[in-house]
Amino acid sequence: MKDLKNTELLKHGSFINGQWQTSDDCFPVVNPATNEVISKVAEATASQVEQAITAANTAQPLWQEKTSYERAAKLQRWAALINEHKDDLALIMTREQGKTLADAGGEIAYGKSFIDWFAEEAKRVYGDTISKHADNKMISVIKQPVGVVAAITPWNFPTAMITRKAAAALAAGCTIVIKPASETPYSALALAVLAKQAGIPDGVFNIVVGKDSRSIGEQLTQHPLVKKFTFTGSTKVGKLLNKQCAESIKKVSLELGGNAPFIVYDDADISLAVKALVDAKLRNCGQTCISPNRIYLHRPIADAFKKQLVASLEKVTQGNGEAAESDVACLIHQEAAENVHKLVESAKADGGKILIGGLSQSPDSSFFPLTVIDNVTHSSDITLCEIFGPVFSLITFDEPEQAIEQANDTEFGLASYVFSQNINRLQQTTTALDYGMIGVNDTAISHPIAPFGGIKHSGFGKEGSKYGLDDYLIIKAITYGF
Ligand code: NAP
Repeated sequence: MKDLKNTELLKHGSFINGQWQTSDDCFPVVNPATNEVISKVAEATASQVEQAITAANTAQPLWQEKTSYERAAKLQRWAALINEHKDDLALIMTREQGKTLADAGGEIAYGKSFIDWFAEEAKRVYGDTISKHADNKMISVIKQPVGVVAAITPWNFPTAMITRKAAAALAAGCTIVIKPASETPYSALALAVLAKQAGIPDGVFNIVVGKDSRSIGEQLTQHPLVKKFTFTGSTKVGKLLNKQCAESIKKVSLELGGNAPFIVYDDADISLAVKALVDAKLRNCGQTCISPNRIYLHRPIADAFKKQLVASLEKVTQGNGEAAESDVACLIHQEAAENVHKLVESAKADGGKILIGGLSQSPDSSFFPLTVIDNVTHSSDITLCEIFGPVFSLITFDEPEQAIEQANDTEFGLASYVFSQNINRLQQTTTALDYGMIGVNDTAISHPIAPFGGIKHSGFGKEGSKYGLDDYLIIKAITYGF
């Protein structure tokens, strides 16, 4: 990556206690658009992971002692540096993750916005004084940092899934050890370069990289010095890690998979709904946890909606994320494209009809074409699973109750969307939908001011918003007798 403006951003080993560490065992990081090896990163050893946890534990009381204004100032400097290097950070992300440069630039700004937000929230950690219950007593409630935090993050948002956790943890007075996905370590390591430059003290922000996620995960979830564990990734791995945390009774938060329904009623603004759907679905080529996964169309508007959707997709250009003309790029690897192909094939076998896209044979690269499949059934695999690709899966319904029932008939409960101009219908639908987040006539639902998180098998805990610090704080009740 000699074309970076600042080649110092590219690091090849773990960042522990403010130092860069290497090891004998290296793994390649691959550009998913071209299959070229970008470079190699050193696998963190067990002793390096131990060092990171110990360093975070040593640094934590000193970081906690700083005033909220001092912590905020460091976070603000970090955010400013991220902004200064946004072009390089976006290029690194596009090369290792595959998303378009526009998407990557958007993610850098989005990731930074959580640091901006939590730098301010650091100053707003309030306790309570409870009205007296006896003449000689008083109770006060204070909030304190939980301690050392360990985090494991996914490849689909290699920067933002880190800053959304780390900014809240650091603002609260915690220190953190993060293991990013092995597909996208460079974005994480670049954040560490800038954290150091921002003056965030050694040991406060640590990154351990490795392909042996199982072993690193066991250390992070089982270590007694780690007081809080936070994970973003698949439900399958989240369940396993939650179990691993049980023995040491850690505070846990889990941001897991989704299977978002997108309901369009007959009174919806169809152009608005189509645009919102395409924007949400094409972001990161459909590889987002809040991506609309099942599109329920009310029969009276179904044909008009399909026509507009197909016309809109015909204008989209797909290609290497680095090319300026690419509106949408590739998936994280060929295996991901093969999985999407299998889901489309099974939907076809269940009676689904391709309106645009699809492949006649299994993909031979990480690219999967924009695909609309109509006449999908509720029991088809494509309805039950998270597609994680640029496939629009359409189901037509007659009665609103039927759409709501089918929308809720899943183990997931992350995001959902509903489009209508009828306030009563919207009120009834939003009350009935079992989801942590609902977009009404809108799909841009993620913002630092809004609580992000799911229910059911999509996890628990909230990231961002005024609630986001709570996951990194403990509540202490102090009863004074006098
Ligand atoms: P994943 O396979 O669960 O991996 C996520 C992270 O867990 C990676 O860092 C991975 O490391 C690590 N990991 C995998 N197996 C592990 C194990 N046995 N022990 C410890 N760590 C382990 O998920 P993914 O495929 O990367 O991400 C896609 C999933 O994330 C989707 O389901 C998506 O919906 C979900 N997601 C949810 C949110 C949300 O906020 N709710 C946001 C983004 C993504 P390696 O890469 O090294 O294997």
